[in-house]
Amino acid sequence: LSAVEQNVLDEIEDKGIDFLRLQFTDILGTVKNVSVPATQAEKAFTEGIYFDGSSIDGFVRIQESDMRLKPDPETFAVLPWRTREGQEGGAARLICDVIDTSTGEPFEGDPRGVLKSALERASDMGFEVNAAPEPEFFLFEHDEEGRATTKTNDAGGYFDLAPKDLASDVRRDIIYGLEDMGFEIEASHHEVAEGQHEINFEYDDALTTADNVGTFRTVVRAIAAQHDLHATFMPKPIPRINGSGMHTHISLFTEDGENAFHDDDDEFNLSEEAKQFTAGILEHAPAIAAVTNPTVNSYKRLVPGYEAPVYVAWSDRNRSALIRKPAARVPAASRIEARFPDPSCNPYLAFAALIHAGLDGIEKELDCDDPVRENIYEFDEAKREEYGIETLPSNLGEAIAELEEDELVKEALGDHVAEKFIEAKKTEYDEYRIDVSQWELDQYLETF
Ligand code: GLU
Ligand code: MG
Ligand code: MG
Repeated sequence: LSAVEQNVLDEIEDKGIDFLRLQFTDILGTVKNVSVPATQAEKAFTEGIYFDGSSIDGFVRIQESDMRLKPDPETFAVLPWRTREGQEGGAARLICDVIDTSTGEPFEGDPRGVLKSALERASDMGFEVNAAPEPEFFLFEHDEEGRATTKTNDAGGYFDLAPKDLASDVRRDIIYGLEDMGFEIEASHHEVAEGQHEINFEYDDALTTADNVGTFRTVVRAIAAQHDLHATFMPKPIPRINGSGMHTHISLFTEDGENAFHDDDDEFNLSEEAKQFTAGILEHAPAIAAVTNPTVNSYKRLVPGYEAPVYVAWSDRNRSALIRKPAARVPAASRIEARFPDPSCNPYLAFAALIHAGLDGIEKELDCDDPVRENIYEFDEAKREEYGIETLPSNLGEAIAELEEDELVKEALGDHVAEKFIEAKKTEYDEYRIDVSQWELDQYLETF
């Protein structure tokens, strides 16, 4: 066993952990668990834990179903809401890589492996990728039967304080839960919409950050449930108010710890690499959207007027742009903020798509146009044409069609994931397309 693995065994012993949840993520971004008694920990490290991959969405067919989980000891964390002081039966989790037992190699359908490949490409180019997401979410009440509603439990607004922000207790408990799991919380606030919240955590390397997104969603839901509230990361639960984004801040650091995105002499403090990276993302944005905004509902958020982007442009101030350059206090903090991702995405695949497109921009030395400083929501078509501003796909069907045409983004996902992802999303969109909505009934039932 390695020293880190030995440490994990010691902690299991010290903290009286009885169960280990071995976690991985399916293609659609759902965290999966295999629970094993903690006595299996050593075996999990040395031999791995076998499971049936055919029962996981988008993994493999029955006839090739044996998969092995290889726990990453760096991801060990005690589950605070499962472990009470003085109580038996504590649980901890380990995030795992998925190994294909027929080859002994990383399974190409494992999203974590897909992100690792993107990071290898960055590393070959001399870069380490840092990422920080800002997942927004809503807290809703349950009805009498315990089902989630869209009734908010507060009437707060942006940065409001208690007592209007009744959820601040819940948010505090969520933050304690996250801190118990090793998160460093930077800030938390009530977002613009009623019942909407944001908790920001410290940036980290992109792999750790993607792991953290999965953990974050799990913790937020679990602690909200303890308060009898339903937390949702659905991008647009309520029409005509702000939806929930997962803005993703990205910067590249060189191996000697310099921020490759910073340039003192540039008007925006952005280096050539930062601009080329931005240009790469802008160039592939319509196809990336299929990955960063992967649900039917995602496209209800990407409409003008609610601080979510619609148009493919960057800005050094404007929140209507797809990519924004946030103000940075110190050189290390120079970064770009991709504003289109939403928290229904699979973070591993979303980061992989963004990173590959950005790196491609650097490799091809793509030119970045001037930033757009006006409110792009207010541009008419003629003005957008004059500025050469494209529009994001307006629904999941269009986004998938863009993805099918974009070799770079498909390669970022790898053949296996690209194929399974496109297949699953086409089915999802078709199911939606043939459904008849309440809006249609309200609009037409009595008119025709
Ligand atoms: N909720 C907005 C969105 O959908 C973002 C608000 C903000 O700038 O934080 O992206
Ligand atoms: Mg926000
Ligand atoms: Mg933001």
